[in-house]
Amino acid sequence: VGEADLDTGNRIFPSLPPLLHGRPEIHLRAGVMNASRLAEEHEPDAEKAFFVADLSQVYLQHQRWKTCLPEIQPFYAVKCNPDPYIIRLLAALGTGFDCASNGEISQILNIGGIDPSRIIFANPCKAVSFVRSAARVGVNMMTFDNADELYKIARAHVGAKLIIRILTDDSKSLCAFGIKFGAPLVTVPALLAKARELHLDVVGVSFHVGSGCYDPSVYSDAIMRSRAVFDMGKEAGYTFSLLDVGGGFEDSLFEQAASVLTRAIDQYFPDRQSQNIKIIAEPGRYYVSKALKLAANIIARRAPLADSPTTTEASDQPGVMYYINDGVYGAFNCILFDHQVIHPYVLSMNGSFHVPSSVPQMLSSVWGPTCDSIDCVSPKTTLPSALRVGDWLGFDNMGAYTICAASQFNGFELSNVIYTTGGVGGSEVHRVLAEFAANGHGL
Ligand code: PLP
Repeated sequence: VGEADLDTGNRIFPSLPPLLHGRPEIHLRAGVMNASRLAEEHEPDAEKAFFVADLSQVYLQHQRWKTCLPEIQPFYAVKCNPDPYIIRLLAALGTGFDCASNGEISQILNIGGIDPSRIIFANPCKAVSFVRSAARVGVNMMTFDNADELYKIARAHVGAKLIIRILTDDSKSLCAFGIKFGAPLVTVPALLAKARELHLDVVGVSFHVGSGCYDPSVYSDAIMRSRAVFDMGKEAGYTFSLLDVGGGFEDSLFEQAASVLTRAIDQYFPDRQSQNIKIIAEPGRYYVSKALKLAANIIARRAPLADSPTTTEASDQPGVMYYINDGVYGAFNCILFDHQVIHPYVLSMNGSFHVPSSVPQMLSSVWGPTCDSIDCVSPKTTLPSALRVGDWLGFDNMGAYTICAASQFNGFELSNVIYTTGGVGGSEVHRVLAEFAANGHGL
């Protein structure tokens, strides 16, 4: 699929940025999507689960970021979803990139036209060969939180611009990182003294309040700690010029987090402009979580036979087990690694995209396709009792920490991504889902 298939008349993208062009190996279905053709392409696996990506969501999140945090430059955390189209869109919109490995750095630089200064190597514990490779390609900004990292960097990248990652309160976040990363404040003066002794250039401070932060007030405490570390830097003979406020931004709490951050920055860094202090962040899930939905097919069902005696109807245990064609070894690894709770809904029933809200419901469980019993997508949920093999379930908020960590365990392929530019009110996304579900090749 080439550039000719791009719908350039879309309201949100009057013309798609040139960086998005030229990836023919990826299905880019902007505008009308031919579901039956897609089904044919994937025969005999025509009911294969698929993502629908709405690139306009990523664009809108970027606009929202610029409105709420105009002073803070986002460096998108590539680990969260390294999808080539999302990366190219963000590159075209001017974000920087937070990379954690050589592979991520190469992915960004291979796009072409991205200056290495737009990359922060935000992994405080790097292999020395990775540090050397960063030096070779001109990636200078990198984080550290321990003395051994300083020795490595002194050997492999003397020109590095170092950022000390400090420990902050991450107890209110889905994924806490403090047990693995971050220098406690008491260790900072000695680390800075060591950096100085090794003739290394420390330029600033970073922190991460934990991924999926549900208490925006922790940003305030983290900024206060950063201020203290800026002052420690001065004592050690450095003049810091970079404050990196990390990631953790939750979509539903974003405005709140932005206002806490803005207030704290005003309070603790009132002279930031005259002192040329640049502020950056490393948002991941904020940008992509909402942008992808997943459609999965019910490939099997375990339900009592119509005439068999049922013991479950009155109980609070699921009476029907549905097996779908993506699971925790695939896209739903987010249940294990990202502590997500999944809420399935019906996309289509018996070939129809419109499911009346009045249909009788039943306690059910939803399982992935592998042979492992850990492969449970939803242990208890309510779904229509008339659901059958061949019907489709939908899952929202599937853009963050899903595809990136999916495996092909048991020989199940990764779900493909179908791209759209959203359309007015998400109409393109709905159209893709509806067409495919209506043409679905289940039983
Ligand atoms: N920065 C670093 C160093 C991280 O480890 C992560 C997540 O693992 C992020 C940024 C992105 O965090 P989030 O997706 O919560 O914004």
